[in-house]
Amino acid sequence: MNRTDRHWRSYRMSRSVEEWVGTSDDTALPPRVRIRVFEAHGGRCAICTREIGPADQWVCDHRIALINGGEHREQNLQPVCCWCDRVVKTPADIALKAKIDRVKARYLGVRCAKSPMSGSRASGWKRKLSGEVVPRRV
Ligand SMILES: [Zn+2]
Repeated sequence: MNRTDRHWRSYRMSRSVEEWVGTSDDTALPPRVRIRVFEAHGGRCAICTREIGPADQWVCDHRIALINGGEHREQNLQPVCCWCDRVVKTPADIALKAKIDRVKARYLGVRCAKSPMSGSRASGWKRKLSGEVVPRRV
């Protein structure tokens, strides 16, 4: 990035502070930048959109991971609560998140259970008063 680009950007974002850009990929984030990233996203986790409270741990995550060519700079950073950070990063936790999503989907009625309780409406069967079990027709 050249000097002109940098000035143009800070002008467009209409604020006096320049975008923070890490000099190397492992440059520690200054606290003021952490605050800016936090405020730029309305204090919400970029993944679960949960509001991050004062007691919550959160990290500055790279929108595009550094290994995928993302840059270590303010624009590429987003606040992510530690829970999401963990979930997004390890395969075991991805499985956990998938499970949580399934449970949530069922709870919200978005998706039916794979094995409905026998005899329930969802099972597709019903027992007649005579005791005979017949397919339930809608
Ligand atoms: Zn989150």
